[in-house]
Amino acid sequence: MTDSTGRVDAVIVGAGFAGLYMAHRLHGLGFSLQGFEAGGGVGGTWYWNRYPGARCDVESMEYSYQFSDELQQAWEWTERYAGQPEIQRYANHVAERFDLARHFEFDTRVTEAVFDESRDRWTVRTDTGGTVEARFCVMATGCLSSANTPDFPGVDTFEGEVHHTGRWPHEGVDFTGKRVGIVGTGSSAIQAIPVIAREAGHLTVFQRTPNYSIPARNGPLDAEVQRSVKADYPAIRARNSQMPGALGVQATMRELAAVDDDPEARRRDYEDRWGIGGFAFLMGYADLLVNPESNDTAAAFVREKIADIVDDPEVAALLSPHNVIGCKRPCLDTGYYETFNRDNVTLVDISDARIEAITPGGLVAGGTPYELDCIVFATGFDAMTGTLHRIDIRGRGGRALREKWAAGPRTYLGLGVAGFPNLFTISGPGSPSVLTNMIVSIEQHVDWIADCMTYLRERGYATIEATEPAQDEWVAHVNDIAGETLYPTCNSWYLGVNIPGKPQVFMPYVGYPPYVEKCDEVAAKGYEGFALRA
Ligand code: FAD
Ligand code: NAP
Repeated sequence: MTDSTGRVDAVIVGAGFAGLYMAHRLHGLGFSLQGFEAGGGVGGTWYWNRYPGARCDVESMEYSYQFSDELQQAWEWTERYAGQPEIQRYANHVAERFDLARHFEFDTRVTEAVFDESRDRWTVRTDTGGTVEARFCVMATGCLSSANTPDFPGVDTFEGEVHHTGRWPHEGVDFTGKRVGIVGTGSSAIQAIPVIAREAGHLTVFQRTPNYSIPARNGPLDAEVQRSVKADYPAIRARNSQMPGALGVQATMRELAAVDDDPEARRRDYEDRWGIGGFAFLMGYADLLVNPESNDTAAAFVREKIADIVDDPEVAALLSPHNVIGCKRPCLDTGYYETFNRDNVTLVDISDARIEAITPGGLVAGGTPYELDCIVFATGFDAMTGTLHRIDIRGRGGRALREKWAAGPRTYLGLGVAGFPNLFTISGPGSPSVLTNMIVSIEQHVDWIADCMTYLRERGYATIEATEPAQDEWVAHVNDIAGETLYPTCNSWYLGVNIPGKPQVFMPYVGYPPYVEKCDEVAAKGYEGFALRA
């Protein structure tokens, strides 16, 4: 908390998994801190995304902190993939266990962070009129925390209810008997659609681009599985940290190229993995995300599954994607394709027949009116940069981050930005972040930042700042690595394509282990690529 002069060592923006752990580390190291959180409680993603069906896609035993063995031994997950309420309970439990909520002011949005070069201080302002001065500013603002609601004309005229999956009402939404329209078929929609369909009178799904979805095969977590993972947790975590996405399931990946496997054996492998469920499906062959021909063997298998599951061949064809599988984050579902066999569900293809307007009674797409009582926007997020740009961040010379990143984000390691001393971004663009089990990436960033701040304190440095050459080199490297994969080949939010006018730059870094190695090396060499000033 601030001293009598309103000063702290560090401001932390955001109380999701990143902000909570950052507060825990900095407090433990004796730094004074002040956190701000726009929401009314902790949990970040899991505080806001309360839509029906919301759950993690990384298995619960992995989608959890590892910094405290007592915590990971004590917490009992109930499902293979925990639902939002359970993850939210977990975040609250962590906050209580380590007494973290006291560091944050809730219902308080940071609007401005300005660096004063004459005093090496950040001045941070909030929408409640507060001002805090800090030496360091840590943006734990989340990669997926600014909901994107497309600017459809007439949205304010709609007389029914409108909800965005990423800003779901805490009291829930009663769909009973209602005519519901859902816009979008990304991960959020794919989780929500089967649940809403069971409740609604009629559900109309407005699909612009079909998505590949793999059955999650969620269910109660076997007590024996939980016990055996806990018995071996440190080794399992250590193994996972050597995987490209820090995911345990990647340990099942073989060196074999999909195209080199015998077609019958390959089919059996896909069938087995489809039965196992989850990301395992895409982990059979090492080349699925680099060789289009190999990729298409997996994509074709999923299209066959869609044709098997969905009764109406026309609907099955519309639900079948033809882009690279895995190019967007793969969706995991519980009964998604099956839902289109229900009498009360209609799929509307808006790939050419775009939504033209929202009207008082529904919406119009491709000239056809649809009468609705409720519209759900499952239209995603202004990912990775959107939340940072909603804050007026100004570094040296009063230069705005928005200006510096006008052509796309530029960072060094996704941790620091040239021209913005003592500003850290957790899971920032240019770091593995969204291509990984994010809690693992978050802990790695928080530990790196905590070590760095300790290093500066011990040696009497006032500021640390990424240098332009190191940043340029890193940005080029991030692009080179992405260019060796199939990731940049589709219209994903990784590239910013989902937001009209957003510069199209592939934002995350591909490959967790080499990234960690680089971060460790930079630190070991006295923060190479950063300028440290006394
Ligand atoms: P967040 O959880 O987004 O928290 C950031 C916080 O900062 C928010 O609470 C926000 O209100 C606050 N904030 C932002 N700007 C300001 C401001 N200006 N002032 C004050 N407060 C501010 N990742 C996985 O690895 N596995 C999964 O299974 C998975 N499932 C997901 C499911 C959904 C529905 C979504 C949307 C994302 C999912 N993710 C998943 C990604 C998820 O975002 C991360 O796993 C993780 O929760 C991010 O934590 P965070 O603390 O970095 O960010
Ligand atoms: P998303 O993947 O960006 O999907 C948004 C959907 O809305 C897409 O189908 C998109 O179509 C559509 N859309 C956007 N703007 C539109 C417009 N103007 N008109 C019509 N359709 C429009 O968002 P999300 O589903 O919220 O998921 C975002 C990320 O959050 C995921 O990739 C994942 O990382 C995370 N997440 C994870 C889980 C999980 O399983 N644990 C669940 C939810 C979210 P186009 O494809 O044509 O753009």
